[in-house]
Amino acid sequence: MGKGSNVQKAQAARERNQKKMGKSHEERQAATAKARLDATAYMCKICRQTFMVNAKLSLLYLHVTAKHDDKKDSPVECFDSLADFDPADPDGKNKAKSAAAAGPVKPKKSAKKKDDDLSSLLDAGLTVSKKKGKK
Ligand SMILES: [Zn+2]
Repeated sequence: MGKGSNVQKAQAARERNQKKMGKSHEERQAATAKARLDATAYMCKICRQTFMVNAKLSLLYLHVTAKHDDKKDSPVECFDSLADFDPADPDGKNKAKSAAAAGPVKPKKSAKKKDDDLSSLLDAGLTVSKKKGKK
């Protein structure tokens, strides 16, 4: 009797685990709804074309210039998210660059480093040969 009940217990535990691992119907529905939302995260207010949630602002702006050339000076008429978009700096790279330039400029010390490497190499070589000599 003991053996049989153990098997039943193991089976019940396995079923519990499978339920835990698998997604419930509600979870699956929520995931699908989220995926649908993500797929249409951006929608052009003029032609209603949709863009994925991970679409870059530069892509949205490209749509504006390609499809609604008359709106390129006010892309917010197509996408609200383009309100702060700067066509001259689509990825905000210039901002990052100027911030880095404002920071302290590190002097290039590649030439000096080479010398250091060389002397340390020589030192290492001397140490090795000294050790070798002792043996
Ligand atoms: Zn459009």
